[in-house]
Amino acid sequence: MPACPLCAKTLTQEIIHGVTIDVCPEHGVWLDRGELLLITEGERFEVGQFSLSDLLREAIQPPVDSNRVLSCPICSKAMDLERYQDVHLDRCVEHGIWLDTGELKALLSNLRLDPLYRRGTSIRLWEARF
Ligand SMILES: [Zn+2]
Ligand SMILES: [Zn+2]
Repeated sequence: MPACPLCAKTLTQEIIHGVTIDVCPEHGVWLDRGELLLITEGERFEVGQFSLSDLLREAIQPPVDSNRVLSCPICSKAMDLERYQDVHLDRCVEHGIWLDTGELKALLSNLRLDPLYRRGTSIRLWEARF
């Protein structure tokens, strides 16, 4: 079982859009490679038409500590910080991404600001990288 990269406690499992993800109740979530795309696809399926009110919203920009280096919960290698949709993800190229508490919610909310969100092939290809 993977452990939280911040407190080292064993992560517990939660299900979101049919995807089992690893969660630290205090610090955030670990998504295995490919899981972000499955979750965003679940969101797309649920969201109706693009809402004009989304055009007026500002993207949520969670704070980032760029000096922090986290270790991948699977291989323990140092993860890279990558910015996607105004959210900074800690990423192990091989295994997946770590999102601090609130960052997954921010990411899903920010994605909806894109009018092409529902049909956007390019953003899906981008998400498939994670
Ligand atoms: Zn933790
Ligand atoms: Zn790794």
